[in-house]
Amino acid sequence: MTVTVIAGCISCGLCTEEFPNLFRMNDDGVAEAISPQVPAGKEGEARQAEEDCPVNVILTA
Ligand code: SF4
Repeated sequence: MTVTVIAGCISCGLCTEEFPNLFRMNDDGVAEAISPQVPAGKEGEARQAEEDCPVNVILTA
């Protein structure tokens, strides 16, 4: 599974606080995936983040 943060993050901090193993704030102050490849066993967390992001900019595939 892959996870990406597309343009439009409002820097709410939800994903980086709830799933710090998957997301971090970058130098521009918006969230990014730590790795585009979701680590084994973290697929559920990635899906949850995708569901929870208030502006739907987290995409899994
Ligand atoms: S949950 Fe969405 S809007 Fe909030 S920091 Fe993460 S990517 Fe950005």
